Amino acid sequence: MSEAVSTGDLCTHCGLCCTEALFGWVPLMGEADRAIMLRHGYDESQLLPDRFLTPCALLDGKACGVFPDRPSCCPGYRCEVLSAAQDGAMPLDQALDIVRKAVALHDDVQTNLPEGQSLHDARRRWKEADKSGAAPSPDEAPLRLAYYALNLFLDRHFRPAGGELVERLD
Ligand code: SF4
Ligand code: SF4
Repeated sequence: MSEAVSTGDLCTHCGLCCTEALFGWVPLMGEADRAIMLRHGYDESQLLPDRFLTPCALLDGKACGVFPDRPSCCPGYRCEVLSAAQDGAMPLDQALDIVRKAVALHDDVQTNLPEGQSLHDARRRWKEADKSGAAPSPDEAPLRLAYYALNLFLDRHFRPAGGELVERLD
């Protein structure tokens, strides 16, 4: 691949940490963060006392739509791919390939979600079904497979050692 890529470009090809793929919520570190979210169009009903749920509505495509004015926890986050690329432990082209694959796997999950449902809804539904001992619906198989495939990939490349998700799934 001959395309020149900077580590900043990596995130603008990705945005997954602002979606529900990696995190269920984003912390709000006080009133200043709340004010930022309200200033950019959120209303109080969309904010919990110390967090808001993903996907962040301020994500514009794959990039933060309020980049210079993000809540305080956002700028400090680095997934393992970004860390490795910034630290020189992984060539940028390789990091970009990984990001593109993860985005494709996330797209696959989104494509398989029933209309009007979020991944949060699906997870909640699975948890309740598992608790009640109900057999998984065959109709859900493509979505569940896509979800597992995404999380296996995120565990392998994006989450730190010890932070894997798939081991905690049934
Ligand atoms: S998941 Fe990593 S590469 Fe993707 S936007 Fe977040 S920090 Fe950047
Ligand atoms: S404010 Fe920007 S960086 Fe923070 S979660 Fe939302 S889109 Fe992502």
